[in-house]
Amino acid sequence: MNDTEPTRLRCDGIQYRGGFIETRLVHAKHINLEAWSIDPDALNANAKWVTDVSDSAVTGNVELELDLRTAMDLTESLHEFVAIESAANGTETNCDECGSRFLSSLATMSSLCPECSHYLYNKPNCAHSFRDGRCRRCGWDGSVSECVATIKGTTKSG
Ligand SMILES: [Zn+2]
Ligand SMILES: [Zn+2]
Repeated sequence: MNDTEPTRLRCDGIQYRGGFIETRLVHAKHINLEAWSIDPDALNANAKWVTDVSDSAVTGNVELELDLRTAMDLTESLHEFVAIESAANGTETNCDECGSRFLSSLATMSSLCPECSHYLYNKPNCAHSFRDGRCRRCGWDGSVSECVATIKGTTKSG
């Protein structure tokens, strides 16, 4: 048994290819990835997770077990594509708290970068991976507001 929380994502940027993705731990040394495609009409604001839509609105479902190497390769490829695509047509915005540019999600419309929303609202943080002064996952540039610095306990005055 593994009690690690699954990661659940909603994909709704391209309506006719919308749905849900879940990653979780089921089998040892493997990552379970499950995806559901959802009828565009059913993927409305009330459909926060696959259990919120009727069975007939689920148009497809697949479940794969990725070994750790494959999971890492998938992660790397997603990072690369995100970096390329965000440089070309990114949906970047400025964080209201620290001022850093970051990659926002149309789905959540957040005005806080993952770093600030983590420290201010206890949201899951990005596992930052810096390259050329910015996180290549979320775009955060390492800026820290005074308020967040206090929460972190990293104020310079100390
Ligand atoms: Zn921020
Ligand atoms: Zn990051």
